[in-house]
Amino acid sequence: MLRINNIKLPIDHQDEDIKKEIAKKLNISSKEIQEVRIIKRSIDARKKNDMIYFVYNVDFKVEDEDKLKNNSLVMISPEKEYILPAQGEELLTTRPIIIGSGPSGLFAGLILAEAGFEPIILERGKAVEERKKDVNLFWKKGVLNIESNVQFGEGGAGTFSDGKLNTLIKDKNNRIRKMLEEFVKAGAPEEILYVNKPHIGTDKLEIAVKNIRKKIISLGGSVLFESKVTDIIIKNGKVKGVVVNGNEKIYSDVIILAIGHSARDTFELLFNKGITIKQKPFSIGVRIEHLKELIDKSQYGKFYNHPRLKAADYKLSHRAKNGRAVYTFCMCPGGYVVASASEENMVVTNGMSEFARDNVNSNSAILVSVEPSDYPSNHPLAGVEFQRNFEKKAYAISNSYYAPVQLFGDFLRNKKSVKFKAVKPSYKPGTIFYDINNIYPEYITDALKEGILAMGKKLRGFSSYDSLLTGVETRSSSPVRIERNENYESISTEGLYPIGEGAGYAGGITSSAVDGIRVAESIIKRYKKGW
Ligand code: FAD
Repeated sequence: MLRINNIKLPIDHQDEDIKKEIAKKLNISSKEIQEVRIIKRSIDARKKNDMIYFVYNVDFKVEDEDKLKNNSLVMISPEKEYILPAQGEELLTTRPIIIGSGPSGLFAGLILAEAGFEPIILERGKAVEERKKDVNLFWKKGVLNIESNVQFGEGGAGTFSDGKLNTLIKDKNNRIRKMLEEFVKAGAPEEILYVNKPHIGTDKLEIAVKNIRKKIISLGGSVLFESKVTDIIIKNGKVKGVVVNGNEKIYSDVIILAIGHSARDTFELLFNKGITIKQKPFSIGVRIEHLKELIDKSQYGKFYNHPRLKAADYKLSHRAKNGRAVYTFCMCPGGYVVASASEENMVVTNGMSEFARDNVNSNSAILVSVEPSDYPSNHPLAGVEFQRNFEKKAYAISNSYYAPVQLFGDFLRNKKSVKFKAVKPSYKPGTIFYDINNIYPEYITDALKEGILAMGKKLRGFSSYDSLLTGVETRSSSPVRIERNENYESISTEGLYPIGEGAGYAGGITSSAVDGIRVAESIIKRYKKGW
């Protein structure tokens, strides 16, 4: 196959026009082009009130490739297959254990299963079908299950999400491609293979994670739900196994720790076992909600309602006068602000959407960077205490999981809002008007005010009076790092592999999944199956 980039076509083009445009650019007949495969599609809306374009990178086949050999617009397609490494030399006599079935654990499990290592995945939460009932009960009635919620259960924190898969990490080894292809085989929409900013949506993610679980099991792996690791067995600095739910022991010399950023009790267990954990910077803030139509109009101009365009996204940032980074994060076009607590009597926000991204509001986290020097002490888990403090304050306002909300115009003026304007909150089980200035310290609220105003200059309407703030968004990434060496093993404990977001080595679904794949590969290269 050959590759050509930057095929730019007006938004209303037909499929056939891609072939025609390639032919025109290369000065050949479109009949010579036998096959066309879209590798990437992005949107060019820079002249949004004139025309919006789709821009394609395309692989294509022609009978006589030599004819185009010297054409500078064309190259041999760099597309490669993902290749599973061969097993190593060291004998592993126990099945590897993976703690956690989020993107990092799930993909580590899939790769190990494909290589014949029959992993055992232990997940504290429930299978997705059962988990969904618990999450809905929390959202409808405020009844929280601390083991089965938005953070814990099959698929991890990403299951009830927007399922954005874009990432800034590079993909030299085709691991991202592998992840995307596995998601598609498991039921995710095929377009994630080529759209510039792929997203699955919570409705399709539920199906995909369930099917990946089935595949792991069909390859000899096991996935055990409601199986919380409550202790790790360590002898002479090496892992030997785990204790599940306080009683059952499972032995293994290889344990992958894929616990996510909200397993605070497990962080504490690790700390008490002497496993090296350090403080790490992260960010906190609020969700900001606008009418989807406002964001779509700002981004797409007169095309805002065009049937070929989905809800518009944005990515904005600002450096505040006090030195803090302020940025939008985990933007959910046409989505919902969701209650995401995993501990009792604490309020936590996050965002999600369905594949269609067709809710009336669009939302995003708006975050301010925080450093270990902001935390209450030097204790490795002080970042968790820092988060809890704000989550408890938010809960205490109404003594319920209702989240504090405030119109941005009122937030600027330090006054409690009294009535919603155009934007109604999507957060459930409910909201309560409150002055968010009373929750966070000034270095956060000042940076938020300055940041949102600056962003309003870049995106029309972003800082309007009735933009709605909902708090508190405290779980943007892990407040700790579980230190590992160049072989991905814990620096304190042999055989323990901390991976993914909770360990501090990834942020988001894709980078967590890629970290899981990378670490699984290194285990495969080291060991051969010996049972
Ligand atoms: P997690 O997904 O957190 O998985 C960890 C798993 O380990 C959990 O299932 C947990 O139950 C389990 N576990 C923890 N402790 C134990 C124990 N002791 N024993 C057994 N099991 C245990 N990222 C994106 O890239 N795009 C998005 O659109 C997006 N939207 C999000 C929306 C929401 C509502 C949330 C909460 C997060 C969102 N994220 C998104 C972030 C993303 O979900 C995480 O970055 C990602 O899931 C991290 O993967 P992980 O495997 O490291 O950990």
